[in-house]
Amino acid sequence: MSAIKREISGDVAVVRVDSPPVNALGQDVRQGILDAVRWANAEASVKAIVITGGDKVFIAGADLREKGTPPPILPDVIFGIEESAKPVVAAIEGQALGGGVEVALASHYRLAAPNAQFGTPEIKLGIVPGAGATQYLPRLIDVTVAIEMILTGNIIDAKKALGLGLIDRIVEDDVLAAAIAQARAAVGEDLDKRRLSRRPTPNAAAVSAAIAAVEPAAKKQRALGSAPAKALALLGRTLTKPFKDGFAEDRQAFLDMKESPEGRALRHMFLAERTAKKLEGPAADARPRKIGKVGIIGAGTMGTGIAITYADAGIPVTLIEMSDEALAKGLDRIKQNYEGAVKSGRVTRAGADERIARIAGATDYAALRDADLIIEAAFEAMAVKNDIFKKLDAVAKPGAILATNTSYLDIDAIAAVTQRPQDVVGLHYFSPANVMKLLEVVNAAKTAPDVLATAMNVAGKTGKIPVVAGVCHGFIGNRILRAYNREAGLLLLAGATPAQVDKALKGFGMAMGPFAVADLAGIDIGYKARKEMAPGTFEPKAFIVHEALVEAGHLGQKTGAGFYKYEKDAKEPAPNPLVDELVAEARAANGVTPRDIGAEEIVARCIFAMVAEGAHIIEEGIAQRASDIDVTYVNGYGFPRYRGGPMFHAELTGWPKVIGFVKQQAAGPFGKWWTPSAWLLKQGA
Ligand code: NAD
Repeated sequence: MSAIKREISGDVAVVRVDSPPVNALGQDVRQGILDAVRWANAEASVKAIVITGGDKVFIAGADLREKGTPPPILPDVIFGIEESAKPVVAAIEGQALGGGVEVALASHYRLAAPNAQFGTPEIKLGIVPGAGATQYLPRLIDVTVAIEMILTGNIIDAKKALGLGLIDRIVEDDVLAAAIAQARAAVGEDLDKRRLSRRPTPNAAAVSAAIAAVEPAAKKQRALGSAPAKALALLGRTLTKPFKDGFAEDRQAFLDMKESPEGRALRHMFLAERTAKKLEGPAADARPRKIGKVGIIGAGTMGTGIAITYADAGIPVTLIEMSDEALAKGLDRIKQNYEGAVKSGRVTRAGADERIARIAGATDYAALRDADLIIEAAFEAMAVKNDIFKKLDAVAKPGAILATNTSYLDIDAIAAVTQRPQDVVGLHYFSPANVMKLLEVVNAAKTAPDVLATAMNVAGKTGKIPVVAGVCHGFIGNRILRAYNREAGLLLLAGATPAQVDKALKGFGMAMGPFAVADLAGIDIGYKARKEMAPGTFEPKAFIVHEALVEAGHLGQKTGAGFYKYEKDAKEPAPNPLVDELVAEARAANGVTPRDIGAEEIVARCIFAMVAEGAHIIEEGIAQRASDIDVTYVNGYGFPRYRGGPMFHAELTGWPKVIGFVKQQAAGPFGKWWTPSAWLLKQGA
């Protein structure tokens, strides 16, 4: 089936892009548009051309799965449109993104339906638009807004586009008919007046002012690495040049950025997040169950955040607590959260009231009788979970899904206390649950395929990025975190300070260093978790200082001191002298002579420890694929997106180098934690 349909409406050729699902600009689409424009120009009976797409998507951008770029390249198509001797009108419904906007900008007129959306999201992939938007947009609309669109990737609607002059008209009813009429009316016009490349180069002072205005927004996009700064510098240079020169330089930058490690990593993440949603095995074809009402057990930190998530998505929630007081406290916390959202303009007053009204509270489990999905977020203790799941088994209707938000506990054991283990699944949210995008969906031994499919489906409906994990201590995320924190702790013992470790890992791009994270979460959380763990399942020497701090009451930020000291009004946390004492004691007790440890070693040990553990996780089938680990770490643990997650970072580093490092560590004093998995060794083959 051809990706491009040619139709004739009197003397106007209609070129329709019809390449589901998103009309991406793959080779067949590029070739098809170019051929159609050439054909229309050659055909005497055709006087003008309309380019259109589907009713939800005009053209959504490049085809990211395409290998290489077989000709014609997009600029050939764009200039083919712009230089067409016969007028070209774009009739836009739905999304015109990336290359889609460029097709529209190259056209001589742009007519849009009210549902049209415009944007250049390329920056999110670490690149600048590569087929003219960088030069066209600032010649058409306000330079500052143009640069802002390119630098933030923000998408604008038809109304805004009209106000900016990006489009000529919004057509309420039949945009295609209007475009055909417009095309006909343009016959005989001087098209140079409509060709954006003929417009004057933007004024240099306006360009510098625009760059300065957009810089703060660009700087905020830390996840994108150096791309925003590179793009700003590029536009500062090329927007003051003649179109042809500016375009050529932008195109080269696009190609360079695309093939840079950051560009590859960001593209990898985009595809990895899409792939993560796909289930393997029998669940791939399972039909999700319908989720109309949700119940949540526990109105603490997690339960309230999860309740907000569902209320935000329009799904009614019943929150269960042990006492009226605890329930009132939880409901109040939810209200406070929405007050904050109203104040900051994230939601309207009416919207907040509606959402609050969706959340009911109860202390009797009978209130969950008609829930389709019940998520337990009570205390992290097996006895508590077992008791709750027995109660749920008694009250929940047949077919209801029973989920637990446990961080570490064995979900197979929890499922086993019910008569319906096939309906039990893990839904591991991250704190704050209404903000964090990641959701680990834990596929327990007996979880039914359609329960897994439902969990993935609900995740999508509530704006989460789901990753499937198998049952093990800590699933994907927290299990890898243990390896990472182990190395951080061992580095402390060997001679580094918490500040050195944190600084090195922040320098690598982690949102926070591991000791700052421990202080934020509370060092007692890990302490309690380790108390429950069997000896031999973790390295106690890595946590000597952690345990001593907790025993001294230094739990982190909440007590004013942990690995750092948190003085009121101090800008930065200060070193905690007690840590120095405890570290010195630990070193003496273990016969360690401290040595200077450089940032490179710190990063290699902490990051490659993640990779080595990730490789075990893949080999054991705990993760469906390596890229799911990357999705987990980028969305749940502050791993820099522009490095593509730990597993892709290893690929960029080169597997032989990573394997060499792992083997070297495996031969060292804490080598038992570094035994390479067969999967890891295979990557070097
Ligand atoms: P929390 O202490 O803030 O809240 C737990 C709430 O559950 C309390 O309000 C308690 O009164 C209530 N509760 C306890 N037993 C109950 C019962 N039988 N019936 C009804 N309510 C009951 O704890 P949290 O941080 O929200 O953690 C909840 C769960 O989520 C734990 O399993 C935890 O491991 C997991 N989790 C926590 C985080 C986090 O960052 N806090 C992240 C992921 C997962």
